[in-house]
Amino acid sequence: MTDTNTGGGLTDGLDELARELDREHVFHSWSAQANPSTLVIASGRGSRVWDHAGHEYLDFSSQLVNVNIGHQHPSVVQAIREQAELLTTIAPSTVNLARGEAAKRIVGHAPSGFRKVFFTNGGADANENAIRMARLHTGRDKVLSTYRSYHGNTGAAIVSTGDWRRIPNEFARGHVHFFGPYLYRSEFWATTPEQESERALQHLRRVIEAEGPSSIAAVLLETIPGTAGILMPPPGYLAGVRELCDRHGILLILDEVMAGFGRTGRWFAFDGSGVRPDLITFAKGVNSGYVPVGGVIISDPIAATFDDRVFPGGLTYSGHPLAMASIVAALDAMESEGIVENAREIGATVIGPALAELAERHAAIGEVRGEGVFWAIELVADPATREPLPAAAMGRLKSALVARGLLPFVQDNRIHVVPPCVVTADEVADAMAIYDDVLRTALEGEG
Ligand code: PLP
Repeated sequence: MTDTNTGGGLTDGLDELARELDREHVFHSWSAQANPSTLVIASGRGSRVWDHAGHEYLDFSSQLVNVNIGHQHPSVVQAIREQAELLTTIAPSTVNLARGEAAKRIVGHAPSGFRKVFFTNGGADANENAIRMARLHTGRDKVLSTYRSYHGNTGAAIVSTGDWRRIPNEFARGHVHFFGPYLYRSEFWATTPEQESERALQHLRRVIEAEGPSSIAAVLLETIPGTAGILMPPPGYLAGVRELCDRHGILLILDEVMAGFGRTGRWFAFDGSGVRPDLITFAKGVNSGYVPVGGVIISDPIAATFDDRVFPGGLTYSGHPLAMASIVAALDAMESEGIVENAREIGATVIGPALAELAERHAAIGEVRGEGVFWAIELVADPATREPLPAAAMGRLKSALVARGLLPFVQDNRIHVVPPCVVTADEVADAMAIYDDVLRTALEGEG
């Protein structure tokens, strides 16, 4: 902790005021309201954030895995400021230069055959609209998604989600779940990545047959399931899903909301896989969340469906000027500063080796997996049975990490190591020392 607060002359009293107002008036996501977080964040820069009193934290969560270019990138802040001077809101039905530019820049990173972008307010409504497009394009109803997934907290998106947040309610019509690959906890008794891939595809094939291929509009897949565990697809899996979809006229929607725009060290997580989806959903990394935005990148045949047919969907803030200006500036920064390359390089040469070393020192680490700045440490109570580390121990780890000045992303029995793409080797070394120390002290007597 240092005194290098960039908030400028602010005091401890403001932290307490922020907590009090929060306790009294803010209703929080995904949590019991009686037990609120007390962590105050008032300012940030790069991979670090501060409270009002100047306590510093290394942000190894990137908030919700979205701050890919780091906090407060000056040129993006400046672009938002300049756009705000010009025009701060405009209806989606009008034409605006910043919107067209942002869309062009986004499709510039997509494979050939994608020319159009539909803008949303975030990731959930991107999936929502992608599902609607797929249903209208195919004239079919069902959407298949995996049990271990997170697609957002709105109607079709939360029903497609397969983790603990899945709400089987009236929106569930036409949503079917299947198991994706996860070798460490294989549903298929597989012992090699190749086996896992082959058997997971066999399982999907049977689900498609059982559901009736001609009733299925789309398979919706996170290219790398993120919140569910950073589950790296084994060799051949994505290509196999693509092939199954093609065989039955089913569309493939790849959800790149968390994995896209640099996190894996590639622009899209599917880059290099040889797989071309029909629809791509994005949010988070496209502008690092500086202004809320998401969207669907639409392949030409699907876009053509709506040439002479109204697309029944729209949002007041679709293509919001501040979001558009921030996208253009964020992509400029990522391209000119080699930010995606940094994520790739630091993942391969610094984070990956450091986590492998950490795993050697701590028996509680059952598996380390990931790439770029997208890694998970899976913690177990017993390495032989792979029984997950209990929630109470995970809670202790999380508190100890924060107390040591590191903001972690903790989910179930995992710590996700997900710093901004601009993280430096020194910052990674500092973080690794904290993980190491906390795993040693907070788990004493465990197992
Ligand atoms: N899809 C994925 C893969 C996500 O990780 C998330 C959010 O974490 C979403 C969709 C939902 O995005 P949002 O919270 O912006 O609605």
